[in-house]
Amino acid sequence: MKLTAIVPCYNEEAAIPYFHEEIARVISGMPGLTLELIYINDGSKDRTLEIIKELAVKDSHVKYLSFSRNFGKEAAIYAGLQNASGDLVAIMDADLQDPPSLLPKMYQAIVEEGYDSAAARRVDRKGEPPIRSWFARLFYRMMNRISKTEIVDGARDFRLMNRKYVDALLQMSEYNRFSKGMFGWVGFETKWLEFENVERVAGETKWSFWKLFLYSIEGIVDFSTVPLALASCVGVLMCGLAVLAIIFIIVRQLLFGGSAFGWPSMACIVIFIGGVQLLCIGILGSYLSRTYLEVKHRPIYICKETNLEVRKSN
Ligand code: UDP
Ligand code: MG
Repeated sequence: MKLTAIVPCYNEEAAIPYFHEEIARVISGMPGLTLELIYINDGSKDRTLEIIKELAVKDSHVKYLSFSRNFGKEAAIYAGLQNASGDLVAIMDADLQDPPSLLPKMYQAIVEEGYDSAAARRVDRKGEPPIRSWFARLFYRMMNRISKTEIVDGARDFRLMNRKYVDALLQMSEYNRFSKGMFGWVGFETKWLEFENVERVAGETKWSFWKLFLYSIEGIVDFSTVPLALASCVGVLMCGLAVLAIIFIIVRQLLFGGSAFGWPSMACIVIFIGGVQLLCIGILGSYLSRTYLEVKHRPIYICKETNLEVRKSN
């Protein structure tokens, strides 16, 4: 059996050597398994590509594919899945936050226990800023309420999959990609393995709070249309309030007459309604912009350089 490990790398010059050593060690302890490593260089600005090429010279199991610019981790995962030739495919971060030591258990789940995929879920968020953890929890709670697709809290993209599962993922060739949702969307049986959070071995995280926030919006818009319905609900609610306010004003006029007072409250109401309308247009806009990008059928990534023999077009 052949196992392909896909490793998205963006400015990971410090972490790759550690990762390479560790995965080679783990795989050598799994007899009957050959390894194919696909490093995806996601437009790194440091020596990442050179380091990967050096590894490729030393080790014929190492394949690489280098993007023409930074396309994001989702695009890197897609490129890896497209080019993976293994019977089993794993997605792993380069920073050893996805411990390769879990691979034997994942392998067992698929080969012996008959699961289609085995995924890792961290049970704590030790070493992460508390505010970030709080927002992450909020996101998962909200997401699972408004989306039919199950998204597991603490799930990483670290996953071992069989061919069927990979082919299903490849059929989803959408441009706006949110892997955590897609893994759930394709279905199949997944075994969850729990582990304690590990801090990255070297280098620093590529995700700022703002980038994560935008990514969470991506997740919501890609896997739920509830915000669209929410816009109409707020509209109906505002109409109801307006009707009540009109009745109040008419009654007040009839009882007390001459009401030139009250324009500050009127100004507040106008501003409030204006705000709600803009918010709703914004929600529409975020769906429309994604539809726009989707109908353009742009490639998900552009490859600049690779040592993979058969490069399927994306
Ligand atoms: N990554 C990538 N492209 C990007 C950002 C990140 O390929 O634009 C890779 C990165 O090199 C790493 C993985 O995605 O292997 C996870 O990134 P990181 O460790 O920074 O995220 P965190 O673990 O902090 O969520
Ligand atoms: Mg990491």
